[in-house]
Amino acid sequence: MASLGAANDISGTLCPRCTDKGTLTCSRCNDIKYCSAECQRADWATHKVLCGAIKDLGPRPSKDMRRILAFLPDEEKPRFVWAPLMQNLFSRHESVDISSFFEPAPMYRQKPQVKNPWTNGTLGYGLDILFDDDFSHAYSNDNRAVVAATKGANTLSWRGPVFAYCGLLGGGTTDKRDIVNIRDMSMLGYAHVVANLTDYHNKDPRHALRKGPKIACVKVACDSDRLPNAPFPQAVQVPRSHPVFQREGCVSLVSELAGMPLATYKYPGSKSIAATDASNTIVSALHICCDLTSPECALPVEPFRSGDVGTQLVARADRTPLDCDTVEVFGKFCVAVVVTSLCMIRDMFRDDGMARERLEQMPKGLLADALQPVWADHFSRWKALKAAAAGAGTAGSVLGDADANVGAAENAGNDDQPEQSESTWPHSSLTWIVLQGNVENVMDSIAALD
Ligand SMILES: [Zn+2]
Ligand SMILES: [Zn+2]
Repeated sequence: MASLGAANDISGTLCPRCTDKGTLTCSRCNDIKYCSAECQRADWATHKVLCGAIKDLGPRPSKDMRRILAFLPDEEKPRFVWAPLMQNLFSRHESVDISSFFEPAPMYRQKPQVKNPWTNGTLGYGLDILFDDDFSHAYSNDNRAVVAATKGANTLSWRGPVFAYCGLLGGGTTDKRDIVNIRDMSMLGYAHVVANLTDYHNKDPRHALRKGPKIACVKVACDSDRLPNAPFPQAVQVPRSHPVFQREGCVSLVSELAGMPLATYKYPGSKSIAATDASNTIVSALHICCDLTSPECALPVEPFRSGDVGTQLVARADRTPLDCDTVEVFGKFCVAVVVTSLCMIRDMFRDDGMARERLEQMPKGLLADALQPVWADHFSRWKALKAAAAGAGTAGSVLGDADANVGAAENAGNDDQPEQSESTWPHSSLTWIVLQGNVENVMDSIAALD
């Protein structure tokens, strides 16, 4: 049997919100590590309920006591308690005596949980959660401590007392293994317990979306925060429960119209030297107003019009992976193609009252129909050019060639690698032709609304 050393709890080093290595320690309690500020933020609502509680509990009263979690039904939050060990006489299985905390003590015990259902990560030990399996009938009120920890994110009402402890597994085959050596519950263990309580019979479709591995997203530094040699935009991984996917995320309307809904989320505390110096060209471009009847048409909507946009996370609102190229090319596409065409359409109707009325009646889908093929065509063309450039090893000249459709090849022999300027960015003349055709289609459709 393992000795009771100083590190008696099973802390582990993996982040509770993903399966990456935890490197950032909670500075308030020093009792848990996260892989990133995003994961810490995602876990904060749950963690803060018990942050610091281990120190408050005090030292182990005697060597045969273990720190466990008690969710007592009428307490405002869960708490750590010391519980005496109980050895089963007929097996090596260990349990704890909880009769002094709640009478009658809940007896139902599932098989030990060995995974975190949010991340699907394996814990490397077992979690036992004790509750009354008849709780929905035996108790009339929700367990307040469970609600405090899970933030009510469960469709199932946990009722009656709930206890949780953890320990090393032993004996039997994988699915028959039991806890044979109970260890102290840690803050990391608490995060895993809450994940299990939240997941248990959860029928909320949003919960299913929040489960699983992290998602590839893109961090777009504000214009003044870009470091000279840092990748821009930068690929990042965020947990599926990140606020960008929830109400805190701002969905870009133009990206929705283009058939690729993107959401943006301002990094809290993103350092902006001065509020007016934190403009973000790409993110502002994602939030241009697409309402042709609005005086704001083709301008970024608030709060993306000001210089205080800051560093932002960009994600696919449907939680599919997003790469840097897509964000960068789409941002530039918005500036070069969408803004221009919105202005074109708007200006054509500006002084024509009759036409303006038709514009107001224009079905929303029309703009999407015009935009989607243009963007799809533009992006596939861009990717082909990039691939060709990578193959030829002369990115600048190939992209320049296709873009300008003029004698850019003459520059190919030039040893200087000119920085790719906005003018060499490949919104090729073909894109313009397709776009014009689509704008005309929009016009025809508007005219046909009579
Ligand atoms: Zn993490
Ligand atoms: Zn903490």
